[in-house]
Amino acid sequence: MIKLTQIRKSFGRNEVLKGIDLTVEKGEVVAILGPSGSGKTTLLRCINYLEKPNEGRIVIDDFSVQCSRPDKKAIHTLRQKTAMVFQQYNLFKHKTALENVMEGLFVVKKISKDEARIRSIELLEKVGLGNKLDAYPSELSGGQQQRVGIARALALNPEVILFDEPTSALDPELVGEVLAVIRKIAKEGITMIIVTHEMGFAQDVASHVVFMDEGVIVEQGKPNELFTSPKEERTKQFLKRIT
Ligand code: ADP
Repeated sequence: MIKLTQIRKSFGRNEVLKGIDLTVEKGEVVAILGPSGSGKTTLLRCINYLEKPNEGRIVIDDFSVQCSRPDKKAIHTLRQKTAMVFQQYNLFKHKTALENVMEGLFVVKKISKDEARIRSIELLEKVGLGNKLDAYPSELSGGQQQRVGIARALALNPEVILFDEPTSALDPELVGEVLAVIRKIAKEGITMIIVTHEMGFAQDVASHVVFMDEGVIVEQGKPNELFTSPKEERTKQFLKRIT
């Protein structure tokens, strides 16, 4: 369903992605792990063109972008097929939870206001915020704001949701509620790619785990295989350090 081929990305002379190949099947939950600075976030951002890859090809369904010569329409389509959940939530501060979720439906999907409202309420209920529809981000905890972020991503009805370290900005006691929501939507069969440092969660929820270091995929496989019997020395060292 998603196929990345030889994705390369440099910032100036710093080559951050050195030819990434990755295939994600429909309904899969892929966790991307690796040390800080290994290129995980950049890879995620390349998938929906928040960063422009220098080279490579991105295929989602039957739609393909050649990164060395992308056209505007191709980028627009790619963005419509993906939704991002950010580390820092990125909500509109002057809009309520409901308005934040409705915004995407309105602007991107161009449906009527009434329809957008009904759908947004359903989604906020799904993430456990049915009682916070009219709250502004400043009135919500970090965990609640991130759940609004997840509802907003779901509203776009994307082919894939990209999670960029969705719990790393949260106080430890709020991590669980956000992971619980992600776990719940994963069970519904939505394709997801998650950059995370939550190893227990990755082991539990992911169907496929990718270990990155220094801009390359060092090793990938089923969580059980990768966590219990990693083959590569770099993976072994990383897992030893963090567990
Ligand atoms: P990770 O998510 O694995 O921590 P990142 O993808 O955030 O890694 O970063 C990989 C490297 O790319 C780092 O060296 C970082 O400094 C660099 N980098 C990321 N974004 C930018 C940017 N916008 N401009 C310049 N360098 C960047």
